[in-house]
Parts: sequence; C-alpha cells; structure tokens
Amino acid sequence: MFGIASSPFVKYLIMLKKPLAYDVIVIGAGPAGYACALRCAQLGLKTVCIDNWRDNNNQGRLGGAHLNTGGVASMTLLDSAKMYHQLKHEAKKHGIHAEAITLDMSEMIQRKEKIIADIGHKMSALFQQHKVGYIQAKALLLNNRQVEISEQESQENAVLSAKHIVLATGSKPIKLPYAVLDNDSIIDSKSALNLQVVPKKLAIIGAGVVGLELASIWNRLGSETILLEAQENFLGVLDQQISGEAYRIYQHQGFDLRLGARVVSAKKANKKVTIEYQDQEGIHTLRVDKLIVACGRKPNTAELAAAEANLMLDDNGYVYVDDNCRTNLPGVYAIGDLTLLGPMLAHKGIEEGVFVAEYIAGINHPINYDNLPCVIYTEPEIAWVGQTEQALRAAGEPIRMGCFQLNSTVRALAMDKSEGIVKIIAHAETDKILGVHIIGTQASELIAEAVLAMEFSASSEDLARTIHARPTLSEAVHDAALMLNRS
Ligand code: NAD
Repeated sequence: MFGIASSPFVKYLIMLKKPLAYDVIVIGAGPAGYACALRCAQLGLKTVCIDNWRDNNNQGRLGGAHLNTGGVASMTLLDSAKMYHQLKHEAKKHGIHAEAITLDMSEMIQRKEKIIADIGHKMSALFQQHKVGYIQAKALLLNNRQVEISEQESQENAVLSAKHIVLATGSKPIKLPYAVLDNDSIIDSKSALNLQVVPKKLAIIGAGVVGLELASIWNRLGSETILLEAQENFLGVLDQQISGEAYRIYQHQGFDLRLGARVVSAKKANKKVTIEYQDQEGIHTLRVDKLIVACGRKPNTAELAAAEANLMLDDNGYVYVDDNCRTNLPGVYAIGDLTLLGPMLAHKGIEEGVFVAEYIAGINHPINYDNLPCVIYTEPEIAWVGQTEQALRAAGEPIRMGCFQLNSTVRALAMDKSEGIVKIIAHAETDKILGVHIIGTQASELIAEAVLAMEFSASSEDLARTIHARPTLSEAVHDAALMLNRS
C-alpha cells in the first residue's frame, strides 16, 4: 500500500468499492505538498500523496511545476547559459582562450532534463523510505473529507477518505486572450525552457520575476531580448535603490526593457510574431521570432473540488484560509501557491507544508512570514528580506541605513563580479534590522545570513560585530552593517 502507486494499485482501489482511510491525504507533490506528506509520515501519520504530473515518458514525477518546469528547470538552464556566456565573453580576461565555442541546445536541454529526473528519483526514494503512499492520479475533493481519484487510462474512479486533507495543487501561468499560445511561436514559461534553437529576436510579455529570469537565459545564449512591461514602475515590489540598480545593470547587459508598454495583440504570420503594444506615445508594432508570455500565475483550483464540497475560493480562485492554513472545511488545509498567505515561493510552500503536518500532529510553530527571503535568479541575483526603505518611510518609521558597493569587496573584485549593492535598514532608535536588500552575484546565498539575523531579532551592531571570513562575498554584508554603525 505504501510506495509508488502505479495503475494496478489505482485499479485495486477501484475494485475495493469502499473508501480506503488515511490519517492524511495530500493533493499535490510540489514543494509544499511533498514537504507536508514527508513530515506527516515522519510524525507517524499514515499518509498518501496524490499527484498527476507525468514526465515526457508518461511516468509519474514528484516535484510539481517548481522542479519540472519552473524554478529548478530555469536555474539549471541559467547555469548553462552563464557558462556559455563566460567562455565566449569573459574567459579571455583570465588568459583562457576558448575560441571555438559552439552551442548544442539539444544537449543543454537534455542535461536539464537529466538533473530534474535525478532529483525526482531522489524525492521518490525519500517517499519510499518514509513510507509515504504516492498515487499517480487526478484528485477531486468531495465532501466529508473524501477524495475521488481518477485513473487516466480507464477513466474509472475510486474514493479515499482521511481525517485530514491538505490541498497543495500549486499554480499555473496566466494566459492572455490577445496573445494565444500556439506552442511554437507564442509560448509560456514552461515551453520557454525547452527551446531547441536560440531565437534570433525574442520578446517577453512581463518584466516580472519569470520574465527577467527567462531573459537572463536567452539573452546570454545570444537572443536579442525585448521585455514589454505594462507598469511604468520597474520591479515595484523591490527597494527602489535596488530596482534602480537592477534596471541599469540589465540594460547594460543588453536587455531591451520597455516600461509602460502594454501588449494589446500578438499574432503569428509568416513564421514571425507580430506584436502590438501601447505606451504613452501610442501603438507600436514589433516583429520577433518568438514571444514568451510571462505575466503572472494563478492558483490551480478550477478542478480541485466538487461543488458539493463547498470549498471557499476568492474571486481570483485562491483558496480562503486562516492564519493556520485551515480552509472553511473542517480538517481541510490549503498551502503553497493556492493561498494568499505570502508570495508564490517554493520555500514558503515548504514551510507551510511542514507547519500543517506539525499542526495536525499537535505541534504549533507558527511561520514568521515577515522574515521570508525572496530571490530573483538573474545574474547578478537580487535577494531581499524584510521591508523596503520606501515602505518604512511611508509608515513613518525612524530608520538608518548602511549601503556597501560590491566593487569595494575584495572577493567580488577577484571574481570580476563587482556590480551590486548590499543595503541594510535598521530602526533608528532600537537598531533592530528591518530589511536587507542585495543585488549582486550569489545574493541568494548572502541573504541567508540576513534572514538568520532577523529571525534572532539582531541589531545592525550585532552584524557589524560578527566576524566574517576574508576574502568572501559575505564581507559586503558585514561592511554594510559597519557603514551603518560607523557613519
Ligand atoms: P509577475 O506578476 O511577477 O510579473 C508579471 C508582469 O507582467 C507584471 O509586472 C505585469 O505588469 C506584466 N504584464 C501583465 N500583462 C501585461 C501586458 N499585457 N503587457 C505587458 N506587461 C504585462 O509574474 P511572474 O513573473 O509570471 O511570476 C509569477 C509568480 O511566480 C510570482 O508570484 C513570482 O514571485 C513567482 N515566482 C518566483 C520565482 C522566484 O522566487 N525566483 C520564480 C518564478 C516565479
């Protein structure tokens, strides 16, 4: 009954004709659902996880969109793109002459697929080791804590029941009616990670997190990359000093960033895509080889619950939950991208998965959403935790700030990666750290120190008096804290 359930197991459930009972049923095996199911099993709860993701060989695969078509897939390709770009444009500076560099997109994509498959296998092994049941099927929430599973091939159904049900079906890219996907020239972020040929001229709708990460890949692989962003304000969620620096760096890297540019139509004609977008000056036309639509994600709730279940959703399809991830239905929880508790981030989902598992087991360790790190995986990376300068000023908080440029950090200079800033904001009276904002190489790693400091309610002086190894990039964090304390 435990381990990976293939079709015969689902057929067995169908034959049983009565609900098989569990302590916990988790629907969805992305970061949130996977972490939840694993923690439930570690806590001694009889747990099954139902997921309908299939790989290219029609086999079940754990990890959800984050592993298979999102964050991990994107980062894997970005690392390849960075290596290609470095060899082509930066190696010479190191005295390395690698003139005959060629690109094999098919091999690059295969490497990505292999890494994803290997991670998926490791996740399956952990499920088996911890005796988490895994059913590869589509699940539908019924009433009375029952779940219907559908067998894809036979279209037959079976019903499971549990004391607790955790919904973790994640999210998917939003589609635009005026830029209809054709899986060839007009594509979404998932297809954009599987292109076999580098587009000569590429446009991306949306200069948000996904759009910028995809631009970082394809620009480095040689595409002329145009980002069309409806908002005038670039990366409005960021600290303005950091978004200003990011804008400058991306433009210098060759991104054609057009702000206040709202796409109104996109059509394929003669193997090209003709895009119309509107800005303050009027309507403009652009012709490109590929168009990627990256304008947000929406929760996967359309086919999650039967009407009889009465699961409460908001107008945008998010599941209504309280602070403990409890839905309006007793014993039914929702975690990860399904809810508006915090942003759509894999690590937020993981924390919620662990939180709900422990909550079910009678342990209550609330999540501190205030100290959630956020990262944009471009090169350089952008990472932040806590509040921005503009939000703190708007709230009338007395603040002091320390900024340090990476071009004064020995390690960054040695690496030739000296673009960027570390900015620390502290309360002017208590000195408690309220926000840390970084743009620079490996910012995703540097931010961990700031998260830990804030989790322990550290002051900027605590950080300034903490010894940092030399030469490391983390010295820039230390130096920003020193700037704050010695100015
Ligand atoms: P987003 O909301 O961050 O950005 C989409 C952008 O598209 C917006 O700025 C919007 O103004 C623009 N847009 C929408 N319609 C447009 C139009 N017609 N013309 C021009 N611009 C238009 O969405 P995203 O980048 O797709 O990311 C989705 C979610 O996934 C976010 O919550 C993000 O945090 C999460 N995510 C996070 C990571 C990470 O942590 N590194 C990676 C991927 C996704």
